[in-house]
Amino acid sequence: MTSDHRNPFRIAQQQFDTAAELLNLADGLRAVLRVPQRELTVNFPVKMDNGDVRMFTGYRVQHNLGRGPVKGGIRYHPSVDIDEVRALAMWMTWKCALVNIPYGGAKGGVVVDPRQLSSGELERLTRRFASDISILLGPEKDIPAPDVNTNAQVMAWIMDTISMHRGYTVPAVITGKPINIGGSLGRVEATGRGVSLMVREVARRLGRPLEQLRVVVQGFGNVGSTAALLLSQMGCRVIGVSDATGGYYRGSGLDVSSMRAFADLHPFRLLEGYSTPGLEQVDGPELLELDCDVLIPAALENQITERNAGQVRARLIVEGANGPTTPEADAILNERGVVVVPDILANAGGVVVSYFEWVQGLQEFFWHEQDVNEKLERIIVGAFDEVWAMAQSRGVPLRTAAYLLAVKRVADANQTRGVYP
Ligand code: NAD
Repeated sequence: MTSDHRNPFRIAQQQFDTAAELLNLADGLRAVLRVPQRELTVNFPVKMDNGDVRMFTGYRVQHNLGRGPVKGGIRYHPSVDIDEVRALAMWMTWKCALVNIPYGGAKGGVVVDPRQLSSGELERLTRRFASDISILLGPEKDIPAPDVNTNAQVMAWIMDTISMHRGYTVPAVITGKPINIGGSLGRVEATGRGVSLMVREVARRLGRPLEQLRVVVQGFGNVGSTAALLLSQMGCRVIGVSDATGGYYRGSGLDVSSMRAFADLHPFRLLEGYSTPGLEQVDGPELLELDCDVLIPAALENQITERNAGQVRARLIVEGANGPTTPEADAILNERGVVVVPDILANAGGVVVSYFEWVQGLQEFFWHEQDVNEKLERIIVGAFDEVWAMAQSRGVPLRTAAYLLAVKRVADANQTRGVYP
């Protein structure tokens, strides 16, 4: 488990406490919102290809059910633990409230390095985990989605497993599915698209043309690679990207689409082995300190800490990842005048289009990609406008402004419903 000041759940609670204090929330309500409502831990066996049986541990945490069914991704990673899943579930609650979609927050995770599994082992692990947490899942209860190291195929296995249990097809039990079984057009790109829209909106406010922006992206998975690609298409110069195998820098700009095409050939979209003239290798920590205008952390938590926040040279950070900046780092960045678009706003595009996918699945009526993208833009830019206005009027950083809006919505919903019985 991570040390206390890097423990994601402690950090999530600290961020909540700051907002609760500013909102003057009643003590009882604070106590309710500070902890998850439900937590399920499952230890389950998987038959490996060599005939051995191996035990795995997974979690599903539902933070708050006040505003509707709960929603949140499933992560496969060796460092998953209950506190990480709790934090991610709590952040989902605020994120859904901030973009005003009718969900509470949840998250799931399995302690596993999927790169060590064969495709058959990955499928059996996924189906058994889905089966073990199925008591919580359902279109009207809890709807998972992809997160780190899970993708549309994993979502398809979960959907199929739940459907086999029920005896009929239940597309709306999961989002981020392949299009041919009820996925939404635009879902795969939605989180990265939201990130790119945040860069555009802040640049507009600061009077900076996109063509002048040099961008560095940490993480080249679903979120990072899409954000990098869309920003390069919008005219920005993407000069650095990294993944779990290392970092790549080219001052004159990287050819992001050729990097994506290269990485797409690898099952975990890795860039290892990519080369092009003028390309320099940088290590992961060095990448965050490159001379650039915009930094997009799109990998894991706790990347920008009190140790490196003083060395970050970007003037704008847009958090594609959840929880990439610790509160200590936030204070340093704020002091230095660095604008940080917080995770619960910056990466909310994914859950917004997941919501559209769920709505389409329930109605069995599917939309054109242009409709999806236009509706996403309206919601995400609308949320940005609200957060920006709140930050200006209260004289607070964007993170605090986002929390003030989101926590108030959740608190109001819980108060309106009252305490049962
Ligand atoms: P992913 O598995 O598709 O990609 C993760 C990327 O991070 C990979 O390129 C991996 O190689 C890289 N990575 C891992 N460790 C690294 C390290 N130490 N340094 C640099 N790169 C590293 O996952 P994703 O879905 O893109 O998620 C990334 C982040 O975005 C997570 O924090 C996730 O919670 C968040 N997020 C994802 C979505 C979504 O729709 N997928 C939505 C909201 C937020």
